[in-house]
Amino acid sequence: MNERDAAALVADLVGDRAGEWDRAGRLPGDVLAELAGKGVLCAEVPAEHGGLGLSSVDNGELTAAVGALCGSLRSLLTSHGMAAWTLSRFGNAEQRATHLPRLTSGALAGVAFSEPGAGSDLSAMTTTIVRDGQSVVVSGRKVWVTGAAYADLLVVFGRHGDGAAIVVVPANAPGVRIERVPEPVGCRAAGHADVHLDAVRLPADLLLGGAGLPVTLLATAALGYGRLSVAWGCVGILRACLAATTRHATTREQFGVPIAEHQLVARHLAELHVAERSATHTCAHASRCWDAGTPETVEATLLAKHLAATAAARGAAAALQVMGSAGARDGHPVARAYRDAKLMEIIEGSAEICQLALAKHAIAEWT
Ligand SMILES: Cc1cc2nc3c(=O)[nH]c(=O)nc-3n(C[C@H](O)[C@H](O)[C@H](O)COP(=O)(O)OP(=O)(O)OC[C@H]3O[C@@H](n4cnc5c(N)ncnc54)[C@H](O)[C@@H]3O)c2cc1C
Repeated sequence: MNERDAAALVADLVGDRAGEWDRAGRLPGDVLAELAGKGVLCAEVPAEHGGLGLSSVDNGELTAAVGALCGSLRSLLTSHGMAAWTLSRFGNAEQRATHLPRLTSGALAGVAFSEPGAGSDLSAMTTTIVRDGQSVVVSGRKVWVTGAAYADLLVVFGRHGDGAAIVVVPANAPGVRIERVPEPVGCRAAGHADVHLDAVRLPADLLLGGAGLPVTLLATAALGYGRLSVAWGCVGILRACLAATTRHATTREQFGVPIAEHQLVARHLAELHVAERSATHTCAHASRCWDAGTPETVEATLLAKHLAATAAARGAAAALQVMGSAGARDGHPVARAYRDAKLMEIIEGSAEICQLALAKHAIAEWT
């Protein structure tokens, strides 16, 4: 299946039901089973592990297509894809051969970094991953894990000796308790949940490679995938806003003409168009860097995430303004975009955290 076939399958399965799912706070199990079962939620996994083997550029366009339809489903695609990427990056050959085919054939995964006391500063994590003979024991509490309410397995980050480690935790392992986040502001059907890990004892072969490396190194590698995926999802939000606002502004008449003919409304449409085009180009550049494995990938990904998330948050607010009361109700695609887009400025490195990192790149390049 190529990117277009995958996007067509998603469009067929989602139809116009995203608003209904958002209000219900739940994605239908059959939709998730079909998409996860066909490898669409982690489409960059190579064919040898049952994946679609898409490039980052093609997976990016697929992510934007999903993001334009349903922010909750796109959130799941991001976290499931990030779990697969983390397993590919840090798993040994045996771990890849065990876990990746599960993720391309129906099992769902989430990634758990954040804790009550460790948000932007992941070095404050207190969850421990301790080796005990042929076992590994995981203790702690993770918060806001996207997709955890649906997950079969969780990729959990924690302290390990002087450094950090990553362990694959089956969601049904004894000692795991999953508690949904009640009524999130946006992406309400994405299954965000807190995960309690009460001395969870697992076979040691669930510990991924890289154990003992600094947390910043482990987390940054995994977050890179998530940042680019969120950025492409924001391109989708902007496209959904453009589709709704251009249709509305050319048909809704006030003062005897379509509102698009009022220059202040036209300016909103122009700015949305600029936002979508610039976010698309920045994301495509980052994906090309990712596909080529160039050293610029880290900075290009940060730039894409920051630009696309802030453009989506600003663009969705402008889109709601153009819609007026027509968009001002729960479940309307632009109202959903407005709530979902705001969250994109908080996750996978908040706007401020991205700015701090981008400032370092600027200083390195220009002084
Ligand atoms: C919808 C959603 C989905 C999520 N999904 C996941 C998931 O799947 N897995 C997971 O592990 N976590 C997830 N999270 C948690 C997310 O990663 C954190 O919310 C994020 O890292 C920010 O941490 P925080 O919320 O604790 O905010 P804080 O770190 O407390 O920050 C609060 C504010 O202070 C600012 N700030 C903090 N430090 C600095 C600084 N040094 N300089 C300037 N400003 C600063 C921040 O930018 C922010 O504006 C999710 C959160 C949300 C809302």
